[in-house]
Amino acid sequence: MAKISINIATGSLQQKEMIVGIDLGTTNSLVAVIHPENKNPSVLKEFDGTALVPSVINFGNGGFVSVGDMAKNKLIEEPQNTIFSVKRLMGKSYKDVKDYAGFYTYKVIDDNTDSLVKVQVGEKFYSPIELSSYILKELKKRAEHILKTPVNKAVITVPAYFNDAQRQATRDAGKLAGLDVLRIVNEPTAASLAYGIGLKKDEIKTIAVYDLGGGTFDVSILRIAAGIFEVLSTNGDTYLGGDDFDRAIVNYWAEKLGITQERLISDSKLLQELRLLAEKAKIHLSTNDLFTGKADSHQLELSKFDFEKLILPYIQQTINCCNNALKDAGLSVKDIDEVIMVGGSTRVQSVKKSVADYFGIQVHDSLNPDEVVALGAAVQADILAGNNKDLLLLDITPLSLGIETMGGLMDMLIPRNSKIPSKASRQYTTQKDGQSGIRISVYQGERDLVRDNRKLAEFNLTGIPGMPAGLPKIEVSFLVNADGILLVKAKELRSGVEQSIEVKPQYGLTDAEVENMLLESVTNAKQDIQARALVEAQTEATQLIDTTQKFIDKNSEFMNEQEKSDTENAILELRSMMEKGSKDQIHSAIEKLNEISRPYAERVMDQAIVTALKGKSI
Ligand code: AMP
Repeated sequence: MAKISINIATGSLQQKEMIVGIDLGTTNSLVAVIHPENKNPSVLKEFDGTALVPSVINFGNGGFVSVGDMAKNKLIEEPQNTIFSVKRLMGKSYKDVKDYAGFYTYKVIDDNTDSLVKVQVGEKFYSPIELSSYILKELKKRAEHILKTPVNKAVITVPAYFNDAQRQATRDAGKLAGLDVLRIVNEPTAASLAYGIGLKKDEIKTIAVYDLGGGTFDVSILRIAAGIFEVLSTNGDTYLGGDDFDRAIVNYWAEKLGITQERLISDSKLLQELRLLAEKAKIHLSTNDLFTGKADSHQLELSKFDFEKLILPYIQQTINCCNNALKDAGLSVKDIDEVIMVGGSTRVQSVKKSVADYFGIQVHDSLNPDEVVALGAAVQADILAGNNKDLLLLDITPLSLGIETMGGLMDMLIPRNSKIPSKASRQYTTQKDGQSGIRISVYQGERDLVRDNRKLAEFNLTGIPGMPAGLPKIEVSFLVNADGILLVKAKELRSGVEQSIEVKPQYGLTDAEVENMLLESVTNAKQDIQARALVEAQTEATQLIDTTQKFIDKNSEFMNEQEKSDTENAILELRSMMEKGSKDQIHSAIEKLNEISRPYAERVMDQAIVTALKGKSI
């Protein structure tokens, strides 16, 4: 029977928990979801139709914090306490951003150049993570308001060039905003998903994602094969975008009006007025041939022809970046199967035309370029929600993979975060003489003892021909193929017997579970080291008892009674330490047994040498 729950907060019926896709942008942010009925992605819009939330935070008087349009309106009046472009600061130290310090109208703290930047507003200091969390909190609140259901889980997009620190910072911002971030997805990957590229299992494609926003440009070359998105290269300019177009128009008009640069800089009201009109002109010209408007009582106009001439150098710069990205990926334009346009500035017709001409194919531009990343994030969220079971979007192994060795230890073959497909193999041997089978238990996780990890599979390699312990060479190999399926094979190399097993993709873990396992491995790192040392001592003891006993059985004629009983006692002592002693106690019991056996072991050796010298076999 299907279950329906009632959301007490909103009084609405709640079916399945919604996972939202969030495009946390430099200039604007937005949220999208897959519509539960028609299954299409759509961005969440307020009643007035607005979907974009400016990524701006204002710290007002009396501790009032506003985000979005309200904050954006304070940019001119309250530059010191209105924060924009936080995304540029994520995971950065002051050293990283100092060259662009003039860009920020608020205070970026530089007391320790190597540590992460902080923003000072009044008496308070904020990390970019906290600042981003304000934006995410606002997006969460809006989504809950529109969907009329609590929103706790999200997929957040980041540029493909974001490093680990920047991705982690984004994840942390989500956590701080009360969101369980199920996955951080590359923006170009999301853009492809929005166009349905990469959703078919047997699809192999190379695509270019051209993303020209207000202040940043990047191009990414992706290879998509069987649901796996690999970033082959990225290139771009983090200070190039539509703002440059606006500035070019302002300068063009200023020149026409005879306004000097000095006056423009000193008259911020005039500059602002011209800038707003320039943006209006630019937008108008993406569908018209001529713009006319008024600023500071001056009649102004701009033709499409002149506009395109003005922005040509910027477009050329982006094409150079595409060229470099292709070069880095070792490809040429004809290798590109699809080109996707992302970002508001790709609405400019000459941008579209230049990109299409460069790649020699039609570009994908049917979706709203401001929304395409969020829409793709929603597609990814839906896949993670398990609504599209055929699909798997994996590009790295989320946790380490390995097998159990003596004493329940985890022997890792493929470390976590390995790019897939991935391959590794290692040799093992038997512990007992004549051992004909060996059990291979496959685990996933970061802990030293397999009992703390997750068992994925188990199988027996049987039919190993009788050999003394340590002689068989058993090669265990792991292959995580492009579908994310783990294939484990064990082969005894002397005899050729082999056995293999397949482990299902994704290994049934959610991102939250993966995170939990990682967290546990960090929390328990010290205990794990101790546990591993104890198991290693116990294993060494077992092996020593085994060989000593074999030795006595074979050579008892060379030992006197005292030696025999001393050895037996030492073995008993070692056994008891193995059961209840510490690692150090086991080591001293091992040492004691070695000392007792050394004199007769040497005697037997000497005897063997004498016999051998006589030409007889022992
Ligand atoms: P984004 O950072 O992707 O939100 O893009 C914002 C940039 O897109 C700003 O510079 C906008 O002025 C620009 N933009 C938005 N709509 C248009 C349009 N119709 N034509 C040209 N540029 C636009």
